[in-house]
Amino acid sequence: MIGMFNRLLGYAHRLMAPEKENCLTCGKTGSFTRELPNVCHACRSRIPWIANVRCLRCGRGIGCPDCSRVDLDERSFVLNRSAVTYTEQMREWLAQYKYRGNEGYANVLIAMLVRAYAQLHREANHGTRDQHRQWNIHAVTSVPVSDERLRERGFNQAEVLAQGLAARMQLPYVRLLVRNRHTDKQSFKSRMDRLRDMQNVFGVMPEAPGTLDQIVRMRVKESVDERGQTPLCLLLIDDIYTTGSTINACAAVLKRYEVQLGWPIEIYSLTWARS
Ligand SMILES: [Zn+2]
Ligand SMILES: [Zn+2]
Repeated sequence: MIGMFNRLLGYAHRLMAPEKENCLTCGKTGSFTRELPNVCHACRSRIPWIANVRCLRCGRGIGCPDCSRVDLDERSFVLNRSAVTYTEQMREWLAQYKYRGNEGYANVLIAMLVRAYAQLHREANHGTRDQHRQWNIHAVTSVPVSDERLRERGFNQAEVLAQGLAARMQLPYVRLLVRNRHTDKQSFKSRMDRLRDMQNVFGVMPEAPGTLDQIVRMRVKESVDERGQTPLCLLLIDDIYTTGSTINACAAVLKRYEVQLGWPIEIYSLTWARS
């Protein structure tokens, strides 16, 4: 009788106890946080979160010479925010996810983006008490990869992150952009070369104008009151922000539809890492 009771107790205990899991990044068993379920406390404490944005435009955690240029007004996006600084450790995490197909990292990276999105939302609505004046994203989209890259890699790393974030935030995810060709690494090029490279790299999908029109009708117009027009706010997702030329090229392509749409479009960018 006692033996059976102990067995039952043992069974109940196993049901209640959290499963011992190994940390995705260091492999040790340890205690885990609710926010990042696969990452142990020790590894989590080493994540280089960008807590204090120094450059309000591109979201850098350090002083930023890039954005103090006069050509700022040529930018087609409002701002970028990133979850983390692109350190050696973060480079390894991204490589695991992007090139080695380690699926466990997708959820971790998405959870990190969710945190950055919440921070952006707080920042954008800082001091806004008026419900009608609240800053809101109406739809999430992502930077596309070329067909060639898609075949190689089997997935679009930015789209997986964007879809995950959209699902967690209960926002619609929409496909809007196509990438006509692949570009080489941008960070080693001069600014002029980058700009030249980016010309006609991105285009819109044939369905994009219809999709944008639908979002405006379903999600934007309903939130507009008599005091004015709310722009269509799109959140553009990518894994990494380096020079901003990719985000800017995508945003420029989308902005061209303002006239056809008869509605202003604002593009905000959220990237997992800021290099
Ligand atoms: Zn760990
Ligand atoms: Zn900047």
